[in-house]
This record gives sequence, C-alpha cells and structure tokens, in this order.
Amino acid sequence: MRYAVLSDVHGNLEALEAVLADAAAHADAVVCLGDVVGYGADPVPCVERLAERAQAVVAGNHEHGVTGLMDLAWFNTHARAAAEWTREQLDDDHSAWLAALPLTAQVADATLVHASPRQPDEWDYLVSAEDGFAAFDAFDTRVCFVGHSHLPGAWSLGSSGREHEGGNIDVTLDAGRRYLVNVGSVGQPRDRDVRAAYAVWDADARRIQIRRVPYDVRAARAKIAAAGLPRFLADRLAAGA
Ligand code: ZN
Repeated sequence: MRYAVLSDVHGNLEALEAVLADAAAHADAVVCLGDVVGYGADPVPCVERLAERAQAVVAGNHEHGVTGLMDLAWFNTHARAAAEWTREQLDDDHSAWLAALPLTAQVADATLVHASPRQPDEWDYLVSAEDGFAAFDAFDTRVCFVGHSHLPGAWSLGSSGREHEGGNIDVTLDAGRRYLVNVGSVGQPRDRDVRAAYAVWDADARRIQIRRVPYDVRAARAKIAAAGLPRFLADRLAAGA
C-alpha cells in the first residue's frame, strides 16, 4: 500500500489538484494532516476534494481558527484576516465537517497529526533536531507524520543513534528505527522551493519520499489578489517562503 501524505493545502486549489494528479500515479490512498483551509482563495473546493479523496484527515490550527474552536487572537495579522475571510466562504456543512476532524488518526503503523504528537492542540512547531527527537515518546507507532512548519524533513531514532535531515528527504525505513516525518506543505511551501510538497509512503517497500510538484502559481496568486486577501499571501507563493 502506498499513501500520499498531504498537509497544509491552505485553500490552494491549483497546488492541490497538481498534487492529487501526481499522487494518482504514485499512491493508492490519500491522507491529510490538516490546514486544508486558510490563506488561499479556494477553501470550499479544497474541503470538497479532500472530503471525497482522503481516507483520513486530521485537524490543523486553521481548522480550529475558522470554526471557532480556537481564538483568532492566537493568529498573526495575515492568518487572522484569511481566517475571517475563509469563515465567510464556508457554509454550515463545510464548517461542521472541519470542526469534526480529529486531532490525531492512525493509518497502518503511522500516527497522523498536524503539529506535534505531544499535546496536538498546543500547535507546537517541530523544526530543530531537538524539537523532533523530544516528540518520539508521544507516539507509539513506527512512523509519525506531521506538517505545520511547511518545511519537509525527517527524524529517526534507533539503537544506532539519532538522525535528522531537512529538505526533500528520501528515506528507506530501517527495521530497528522509528521515524518522524514532516511532509512539507502542498499549498504554501516555505523552503524557497515554490513547488507543492507532499510525501509518498510506500508501506510495503518501507520507503518515504518527499515529492515536489510544479503547479500554476500565477493563477493561485491572482485568485488571492482578486479575493481581496492580503497581498503578502499571494507574494509568498512566488517566493516559496
Ligand atoms: Zn499551515
């Protein structure tokens, strides 16, 4: 079984469609780590595509922000403006679907969580080597997939020591090790690579690989501008930052 692991779509339909098309050729199932909405101009189609395609979806902080489960005072200015705009686009069914998403899920031998397996609704960022290693005792599956930082990378722990590697990782899973993998962001990459990011986890071949997929950045930017969302949110797609 091969899983496409998507995170941080953020209402970017152009990026999501490009990733789903790529995933159709490289994976058998789709799972999503949250932040389906927020920032981008197409929250409703993104919710609908993932509700239809994904076998499991967990909640991100943007789901909690737009549905009122979290106070928007925790959001920065641009994120708050986007969340307020997004709220107006969603009808009751979309909001109810987003509000009902669980904080964690398990698929095969992997835990799915948006930010950190430790206190998932604290929305901690796992960025440094130490951040990741400290999270291992908060999950008991072989693998844990996270998003949230929009920066792909992997941590692993085993009897032969600790390993941490940032970037577009391609890891063959060792029988004696456990893994924490950040799959990067579909809809708002922040590692200076404008292409959409997601992971393919081949559970049989025991391999996890980040794939990068070009998409129509210009169209996504134009929609953000036309929606009256903060211009910064359009510009950062072109910078991948
Ligand atoms: Zn995000």
